[in-house]
Amino acid sequence: MSADFVISAAKPAQVPRDGLPQVAFAGRSNVGKSSLLNALTGRKRLAHVSGTPGRTRLLNVYRINNAMYFVDLPGYGFAKAPRAMREQWGRLITAYLRTSPDLCAVVAIFDIRRELSGDDEDLLHWLAAHRIPIMAVLTKADKLSRMRQQVALRYWAGALAPWSPAGPVLFSATTRTGRDELLGLIAEAAARAPRPPQE
Ligand code: GDP
Repeated sequence: MSADFVISAAKPAQVPRDGLPQVAFAGRSNVGKSSLLNALTGRKRLAHVSGTPGRTRLLNVYRINNAMYFVDLPGYGFAKAPRAMREQWGRLITAYLRTSPDLCAVVAIFDIRRELSGDDEDLLHWLAAHRIPIMAVLTKADKLSRMRQQVALRYWAGALAPWSPAGPVLFSATTRTGRDELLGLIAEAAARAPRPPQE
């Protein structure tokens, strides 16, 4: 797979609009979004795995196989961030999601060991209201035993059912569990995206 960094965009207008389908990645800060992007693309440092959560406030855009874009949305819900900053992130995320005609799905990422937060619910509500398809992923699965994974999976399947009836993908950046399944779902979503008129 080829994965090329395109831009760190401060405004949605800086994100390319060339008709290639776009898949966005969303989650709370520190959820494991960068690790997931690196695992998906097979690149060690495509996205920065950060020891200090809440730093990235830009839309990081990557071109994948010259066939689609991955758009890494800023992590939300970082409790220590000042309110004004949090609002600014929310505005950037929703502005991108609202104004991107090539967006075909959002990969919504959750830490399997946690529970659905108010910020998560806000995002899911918002995506559903805007009819944006949601692919749910539970990451850090390797941190739980098989048995606890199954318990958590049942919790999350129930919690996410109103928004993502397909059920979440079990994922681990460490063991690569779920990588092929998620890539398959992304490819399907991209194939369903409206094609641009031929020039
Ligand atoms: P981001 O802030 O959402 O981009 O999260 P990062 O990818 O930077 O990950 C946050 C922390 O969780 C880092 O210490 C990662 O090493 C760790 N992490 C992320 N994904 C996994 C995973 O699948 N398994 C394990 N064991 N740790 C993970």
